[in-house]
Amino acid sequence: METLKGIQQNKMFINGKWVSALSNETFDVINPGTGEIIDSVPLGREGEAILAVDAADQAFQCWSEKTANERSSLLMNWFHLVLDHKEEIASILTAEQGKSITEARGEVDYAASFISWNAEEAKRIYGETIPASAQNKRIVVIKQPIGVVAAITPWNFPAAMFTRKIATALAAGCTAVIKPAESTPLTAIKLTELAHEAGIPAGVLNVVTGDPKTIGKAWLDDKRVKKITFTGSTPVGKYLMREAADSIKKVSLELGGHAPVIVFDDADIEKAVEGVISSKFRNSGQTCVCANRIYVQRGILPEFTEKLKNEVKKIKVGIGTDLDVNIGPLINEAGYLKVQRHVDDAVKKGAKIELGGKRMEQFQGGYFFEPTILSGVHEQMDIMNEETFGPVAPIIPFEDRNEAISQANNSDYGLAAYVYTESLSTAIKIAEKLEFGIVGINDGLPSTAQAPFGGVKQSGIGREGGRQGIEEFLENKYLSIRI
Ligand code: NAP
Repeated sequence: METLKGIQQNKMFINGKWVSALSNETFDVINPGTGEIIDSVPLGREGEAILAVDAADQAFQCWSEKTANERSSLLMNWFHLVLDHKEEIASILTAEQGKSITEARGEVDYAASFISWNAEEAKRIYGETIPASAQNKRIVVIKQPIGVVAAITPWNFPAAMFTRKIATALAAGCTAVIKPAESTPLTAIKLTELAHEAGIPAGVLNVVTGDPKTIGKAWLDDKRVKKITFTGSTPVGKYLMREAADSIKKVSLELGGHAPVIVFDDADIEKAVEGVISSKFRNSGQTCVCANRIYVQRGILPEFTEKLKNEVKKIKVGIGTDLDVNIGPLINEAGYLKVQRHVDDAVKKGAKIELGGKRMEQFQGGYFFEPTILSGVHEQMDIMNEETFGPVAPIIPFEDRNEAISQANNSDYGLAAYVYTESLSTAIKIAEKLEFGIVGINDGLPSTAQAPFGGVKQSGIGREGGRQGIEEFLENKYLSIRI
């Protein structure tokens, strides 16, 4: 097995040391573009999960007592190291996740931005004073780190989801244990190497690779873990929330989405097409904020569909390391089977394939799917109700604003929605009515470190990023002072 350039470690990181699994077992990491094994990492379970909490618990006092400036400057060291190693991290990301090298470089920048943002936020954790109702009393509210945080991250943004959680937790003064997805542990390991090099002390950040069920259960059952922060699917999020109830842990959940895009007939069609391409096809459609339903007002339906087709035809699919490739493969066979099922079910129920619709057989090693457009889609189709997580754009016509709002809101998900119109008044009215945590107005790429990211309904609870993100890792303590 050839070692991937840039990887020095393929171990877990507990209490400042690179360690194997207690059983010495490992599991393979596969390149989803080629099917080749790129490395293997320790198969950790309950025992390693507990050792990681031991370390985080021990490190908590010292880390939480550091001044905000001290924590901030260590995080800034980490930020600079991540940018200095951008090419290495991007190539690891492309190898284990499959996304194009251009997208991977973009993700490293995005991941780094959470470190620098939160390094600054560490210095802005303000408490408050409240006028008391007695002359001899004073009320002061201080903010304190919640304690040991357990983070669980998905495979679709292995760098950004890692830093969005870890940089925020550490900035707040918490210590952390993290389990990256089994498909993409190497990016997390590389980021941890750099955090260590940046001077983050032993025990403050611990990474356990391996079996999700036993690691997750150990952290859920451990009273020393005060918070679970999770990004992933809604069913796993519900399970974690239920189990966290036993020890009343604070929970933040960034879950699935089913984003509607509403294109009004007064929209700038080029802008709308560009937005749909970014939102729908980035990372081969494997994003939680990905457009899953494209509602187009009937007057512009033919023109919009034609223009979208012309642009989608230009998307180059291939192995992520090829420089001219825009999008890579789906993560695995299960991912492919779901996407194909959505297309087949839609066609069976009357949809028309305008473009694509099947696996690209020329790539033998991985599951590459043709960028696909479906028309004639209606609400009884699976694609309208389940997250597709693939490059399939279903188009649904609508007549008026009320119909668009009620169809868009007719979902258990509520993460991101998009509106395209040149009317400010329509944009504001619609945005206020949409039951989603994020609304992109003429913008297909709203995610950024300084804004609160998160969903409503079954898309989750809590926010990451912005000034709101760090609050999730803090407790308010009220001091009632008699003078
Ligand atoms: P997933 O199956 O829920 O996995 C997410 C993480 O949870 C992985 O690390 C996984 O480990 C772990 N996990 C699975 N079962 C677990 C259990 N019983 N106990 C503890 N941990 C467990 O989701 P995914 O397929 O990897 O990721 C895609 C999903 O993430 C989509 O629904 C997407 O919308 C969502 N997502 C949401 C956001 C957001 O911010 N809202 C951002 C990105 C992705 P293994 O990988 O090792 O199985």
